[in-house]
Amino acid sequence: MSENEEKDIKVQCPICQAEKVIKVPNYIFDNKKVGNIKIQIYKGICCEHQFILFLNKKSEIMGYEVIDMNIDLSAVEESRSKDKIYLRDMLKTYGDYAVSCVIHSLLLDFPIIILRTKYEGSRASDFTYFLNKILPDSPNKKILLVSNILEKDYQKAKIENALVINPTGIVINTPWKDIPLDFETNIVNKSLEIIDDSTQTYIIQDGVTLLFKEAEFVKAIIDKEDILEDDLKNKIASNFMHNVDNQRLNLLKQILEHRYRNGNVKRIKNRLLSKLDEGLW
Ligand SMILES: [Zn+2]
Repeated sequence: MSENEEKDIKVQCPICQAEKVIKVPNYIFDNKKVGNIKIQIYKGICCEHQFILFLNKKSEIMGYEVIDMNIDLSAVEESRSKDKIYLRDMLKTYGDYAVSCVIHSLLLDFPIIILRTKYEGSRASDFTYFLNKILPDSPNKKILLVSNILEKDYQKAKIENALVINPTGIVINTPWKDIPLDFETNIVNKSLEIIDDSTQTYIIQDGVTLLFKEAEFVKAIIDKEDILEDDLKNKIASNFMHNVDNQRLNLLKQILEHRYRNGNVKRIKNRLLSKLDEGLW
Protein backbone atom coordinates (compact mmCIF):
# COMPACT_ATOMS: atom_id res chain seq x y z
CA MET A 1 0.00 0.00 0.00
CA SER A 2 1.32 3.43 -0.85
CA GLU A 3 1.81 5.89 1.98
CA ASN A 4 0.05 8.48 -0.17
CA GLU A 5 -3.34 6.77 -0.10
CA GLU A 6 -5.89 8.47 2.08
CA LYS A 7 -9.18 7.65 3.70
CA ASP A 8 -12.13 10.02 4.09
CA ILE A 9 -13.41 10.39 7.64
CA LYS A 10 -16.53 12.39 8.40
CA VAL A 11 -16.07 14.19 11.71
CA GLN A 12 -18.69 15.98 13.73
CA CYS A 13 -17.82 18.74 16.17
CA PRO A 14 -18.82 17.61 19.69
CA ILE A 15 -19.77 21.21 20.56
CA CYS A 16 -21.71 22.64 17.60
CA GLN A 17 -22.29 19.42 15.59
CA ALA A 18 -20.83 20.93 12.42
CA GLU A 19 -19.62 18.23 10.03
CA LYS A 20 -16.55 18.01 7.86
CA VAL A 21 -14.83 15.30 5.85
CA ILE A 22 -11.13 15.06 6.61
CA LYS A 23 -8.49 12.95 4.89
CA VAL A 24 -6.18 10.73 6.88
CA PRO A 25 -3.39 8.54 5.50
CA ASN A 26 -4.35 4.87 5.22
CA TYR A 27 -1.10 3.48 6.56
CA ILE A 28 -1.78 4.72 10.10
CA PHE A 29 -4.25 1.83 10.47
CA ASP A 30 -1.79 -0.76 9.20
CA ASN A 31 0.17 -1.72 12.28
CA LYS A 32 -1.65 -4.44 14.18
CA LYS A 33 -0.18 -3.68 17.59
CA VAL A 34 -1.63 -0.25 18.18
CA GLY A 35 -4.70 1.00 20.02
CA ASN A 36 -6.77 4.08 19.36
CA ILE A 37 -5.54 6.77 17.01
CA LYS A 38 -5.92 10.41 18.04
CA ILE A 39 -6.12 13.32 15.66
CA GLN A 40 -6.17 16.95 16.70
CA ILE A 41 -8.80 18.87 14.75
CA TYR A 42 -7.65 22.46 14.85
CA LYS A 43 -9.80 25.55 14.96
CA GLY A 44 -10.95 26.34 11.44
CA ILE A 45 -10.78 22.79 10.08
CA CYS A 46 -14.35 21.81 10.96
CA CYS A 47 -15.70 24.92 12.69
CA GLU A 48 -14.40 27.43 15.23
CA HIS A 49 -13.82 24.71 17.86
CA GLN A 50 -10.89 22.44 18.36
CA PHE A 51 -11.09 18.89 19.59
CA ILE A 52 -9.43 15.48 19.48
CA LEU A 53 -10.90 12.75 17.29
CA PHE A 54 -10.46 9.13 18.46
CA LEU A 55 -10.41 6.43 15.79
CA ASN A 56 -10.05 2.68 16.20
CA LYS A 57 -8.00 0.38 13.96
CA LYS A 58 -10.93 -0.03 11.59
CA SER A 59 -11.03 3.76 11.14
CA GLU A 60 -14.33 3.94 13.02
CA ILE A 61 -14.94 7.00 15.20
CA MET A 62 -14.74 6.03 18.88
CA GLY A 63 -15.39 9.48 20.29
CA TYR A 64 -14.19 13.02 20.73
CA GLU A 65 -12.46 14.94 23.47
CA VAL A 66 -12.94 18.66 23.74
CA ILE A 67 -9.67 20.37 24.50
CA ASP A 68 -9.20 23.77 25.91
CA MET A 69 -5.59 24.58 25.31
CA ASN A 70 -5.63 28.14 24.10
CA ILE A 71 -2.41 27.82 22.18
CA ASP A 72 -2.67 29.97 19.09
CA LEU A 73 -0.32 28.06 16.82
CA SER A 74 -0.57 30.71 14.12
CA ALA A 75 1.22 33.07 16.51
CA VAL A 76 4.01 30.57 17.15
CA GLU A 77 6.93 31.05 14.82
CA GLU A 78 9.46 28.40 13.98
CA SER A 79 12.85 29.01 15.50
CA ARG A 80 15.57 30.20 13.16
CA SER A 81 17.87 27.43 14.19
CA LYS A 82 18.60 24.93 11.43
CA ASP A 83 20.72 22.56 13.46
CA LYS A 84 18.62 22.41 16.60
CA ILE A 85 15.03 21.60 17.46
CA TYR A 86 13.12 23.73 19.94
CA LEU A 87 9.66 23.64 21.46
CA ARG A 88 8.12 25.93 18.86
CA ASP A 89 9.50 23.88 15.97
CA MET A 90 7.77 20.84 17.41
CA LEU A 91 4.55 22.76 18.03
CA LYS A 92 4.53 24.13 14.50
CA THR A 93 5.16 20.73 12.94
CA TYR A 94 3.14 18.37 15.12
CA GLY A 95 0.64 20.55 17.01
CA ASP A 96 0.09 21.07 20.72
CA TYR A 97 -1.73 17.80 21.35
CA ALA A 98 1.08 15.65 19.89
CA VAL A 99 3.67 17.73 21.78
CA SER A 100 1.74 17.20 25.04
CA CYS A 101 1.83 13.46 24.30
CA VAL A 102 5.60 13.67 23.69
CA ILE A 103 6.08 15.34 27.10
CA HIS A 104 3.84 12.75 28.75
CA SER A 105 5.90 9.99 27.15
CA LEU A 106 9.06 11.63 28.52
CA LEU A 107 7.60 11.73 32.02
CA LEU A 108 6.61 8.07 31.88
CA ASP A 109 9.87 7.02 30.21
CA PHE A 110 8.37 5.42 27.12
CA PRO A 111 10.31 5.43 23.83
CA ILE A 112 9.13 7.95 21.25
CA ILE A 113 8.84 7.15 17.55
CA ILE A 114 8.39 10.08 15.21
CA LEU A 115 7.63 9.06 11.64
CA ARG A 116 9.11 11.08 8.79
CA THR A 117 8.32 11.39 5.11
CA LYS A 118 10.72 10.23 2.45
CA TYR A 119 11.63 13.88 1.86
CA GLU A 120 13.01 14.37 5.37
CA GLY A 121 16.29 13.06 6.72
CA SER A 122 16.43 11.53 10.18
CA ARG A 123 16.61 14.07 12.98
CA ALA A 124 16.56 11.51 15.77
CA SER A 125 19.66 12.95 17.42
CA ASP A 126 18.24 16.52 17.34
CA PHE A 127 14.99 15.32 18.92
CA THR A 128 16.92 13.35 21.52
CA TYR A 129 19.10 16.32 22.35
CA PHE A 130 16.15 18.67 22.79
CA LEU A 131 13.94 16.25 24.73
CA ASN A 132 16.74 15.21 27.06
CA LYS A 133 17.13 18.86 28.02
CA ILE A 134 13.57 18.86 29.29
CA LEU A 135 14.35 16.10 31.76
CA PRO A 136 16.05 17.27 34.96
CA ASP A 137 19.41 15.78 35.86
CA SER A 138 18.65 13.28 38.56
CA PRO A 139 19.73 9.79 39.51
CA ASN A 140 16.50 8.70 37.90
CA LYS A 141 17.31 10.19 34.51
CA LYS A 142 17.59 7.61 31.78
CA ILE A 143 18.76 7.89 28.23
CA LEU A 144 15.77 8.74 26.15
CA LEU A 145 15.01 6.74 23.03
CA VAL A 146 13.74 8.71 20.06
CA SER A 147 13.53 7.10 16.64
CA ASN A 148 12.77 9.06 13.52
CA ILE A 149 11.72 6.33 11.07
CA LEU A 150 10.19 6.51 7.62
CA GLU A 151 6.42 6.31 7.26
CA LYS A 152 6.77 3.34 4.95
CA ASP A 153 8.55 1.39 7.70
CA TYR A 154 5.72 1.93 10.15
CA GLN A 155 3.73 -1.18 9.25
CA LYS A 156 6.53 -3.55 10.21
CA ALA A 157 7.94 -1.47 13.06
CA LYS A 158 7.81 -2.85 16.59
CA ILE A 159 5.94 -0.17 18.46
CA GLU A 160 3.98 -1.88 21.25
CA ASN A 161 5.37 0.20 24.08
CA ALA A 162 6.14 3.47 22.39
CA LEU A 163 4.47 6.73 21.58
CA VAL A 164 4.14 7.03 17.80
CA ILE A 165 3.33 10.22 15.96
CA ASN A 166 3.21 10.74 12.21
CA PRO A 167 4.75 13.66 10.26
CA THR A 168 1.58 15.75 10.55
CA GLY A 169 1.11 15.13 14.28
CA ILE A 170 -1.45 12.31 14.20
CA VAL A 171 -0.94 10.37 17.42
CA ILE A 172 -0.96 6.79 16.17
CA ASN A 173 -0.12 5.02 19.41
CA THR A 174 -0.03 5.91 23.10
CA PRO A 175 1.32 3.18 25.41
CA TRP A 176 -0.46 4.50 28.52
CA LYS A 177 -3.99 4.55 29.86
CA ASP A 178 -5.50 7.84 28.69
CA ILE A 179 -5.66 10.63 31.26
CA PRO A 180 -6.12 14.36 30.59
CA LEU A 181 -2.76 15.93 29.74
CA ASP A 182 -3.29 19.07 31.81
CA PHE A 183 0.20 19.28 33.27
CA GLU A 184 1.77 18.94 29.83
CA THR A 185 -0.50 21.53 28.21
CA ASN A 186 -0.05 24.01 31.04
CA ILE A 187 3.71 23.73 31.03
CA VAL A 188 3.82 24.28 27.27
CA ASN A 189 1.60 27.35 27.65
CA LYS A 190 3.70 28.68 30.48
CA SER A 191 6.97 28.25 28.64
CA LEU A 192 5.58 29.98 25.53
CA GLU A 193 5.25 33.13 27.61
CA ILE A 194 9.04 33.24 27.40
CA ILE A 195 10.45 34.20 24.03
CA ASP A 196 13.93 32.75 24.35
CA ASP A 197 14.05 29.13 23.11
CA SER A 198 16.57 27.78 25.61
CA THR A 199 14.82 29.44 28.53
CA GLN A 200 11.56 27.78 27.44
CA THR A 201 13.26 24.43 27.87
CA TYR A 202 14.27 25.31 31.43
CA ILE A 203 10.71 26.30 32.32
CA ILE A 204 9.55 22.82 31.34
CA GLN A 205 12.49 21.27 33.17
CA ASP A 206 11.56 23.16 36.36
CA GLY A 207 8.01 21.85 36.20
CA VAL A 208 9.22 18.32 35.63
CA THR A 209 11.72 18.59 38.50
CA LEU A 210 8.91 19.46 40.92
CA LEU A 211 6.75 16.65 39.57
CA PHE A 212 9.53 14.09 40.09
CA LYS A 213 10.10 15.40 43.62
CA GLU A 214 6.43 14.82 44.34
CA ALA A 215 6.65 11.34 42.82
CA GLU A 216 9.57 10.51 45.12
CA PHE A 217 7.67 11.89 48.10
CA VAL A 218 4.71 9.64 47.25
CA LYS A 219 7.03 6.69 46.67
CA ALA A 220 8.50 7.04 50.18
CA ILE A 221 4.98 6.87 51.62
CA ILE A 222 3.59 3.95 49.62
CA ASP A 223 6.74 1.89 50.03
CA LYS A 224 5.80 1.81 53.73
CA GLU A 225 2.02 1.69 53.87
CA ASP A 226 -1.39 1.84 52.22
CA ILE A 227 -2.91 5.30 51.97
CA LEU A 228 -6.21 6.80 50.89
CA GLU A 229 -6.14 9.09 47.86
CA ASP A 230 -7.54 12.06 49.79
CA ASP A 231 -4.99 11.69 52.58
CA LEU A 232 -2.20 11.44 50.05
CA LYS A 233 -3.37 14.56 48.22
CA ASN A 234 -3.38 16.45 51.52
CA LYS A 235 0.12 15.25 52.39
CA ILE A 236 1.54 16.32 49.03
CA ALA A 237 -0.29 19.64 49.24
CA SER A 238 1.05 20.51 52.67
CA ASN A 239 4.58 19.37 51.86
CA PHE A 240 4.83 21.22 48.54
CA MET A 241 2.55 24.12 49.38
CA HIS A 242 0.20 23.83 46.43
CA ASN A 243 -3.12 22.19 45.63
CA VAL A 244 -3.17 18.66 44.32
CA ASP A 245 -6.17 17.70 42.21
CA ASN A 246 -7.17 14.26 40.89
CA GLN A 247 -5.44 14.87 37.59
CA ARG A 248 -2.12 15.59 39.25
CA LEU A 249 -2.50 12.51 41.44
CA ASN A 250 -3.29 10.36 38.40
CA LEU A 251 -0.22 11.71 36.65
CA LEU A 252 1.96 10.97 39.68
CA LYS A 253 0.57 7.43 39.80
CA GLN A 254 1.45 6.87 36.13
CA ILE A 255 4.97 8.25 36.67
CA LEU A 256 5.48 5.89 39.63
CA GLU A 257 4.06 2.94 37.76
CA HIS A 258 6.05 3.39 34.55
CA ARG A 259 9.16 5.53 35.17
CA TYR A 260 9.83 4.22 38.68
CA ARG A 261 8.31 0.78 37.98
CA ASN A 262 6.82 0.92 41.45
CA GLY A 263 4.30 -1.83 42.14
CA ASN A 264 3.15 -0.12 45.32
CA VAL A 265 0.94 2.30 43.38
CA LYS A 266 -1.92 -0.09 44.12
CA ARG A 267 -1.51 0.82 47.79
CA ILE A 268 -3.08 4.17 46.99
CA LYS A 269 -6.74 3.46 47.77
CA ASN A 270 -9.90 5.17 46.77
CA ARG A 271 -12.11 5.83 49.83
CA LEU A 272 -15.28 4.64 48.15
CA LEU A 273 -13.74 1.47 46.77
CA SER A 274 -12.16 0.70 50.17
CA LYS A 275 -15.57 0.91 51.80
CA LEU A 276 -16.96 -1.48 49.19
CA ASP A 277 -14.10 -3.87 49.95
CA GLU A 278 -14.88 -3.76 53.66
CA GLY A 279 -18.54 -4.41 52.88
CA LEU A 280 -17.62 -7.63 51.16
CA TRP A 281 -16.18 -8.93 54.39
ZN1 LIG B 1 -17.83 23.33 16.48
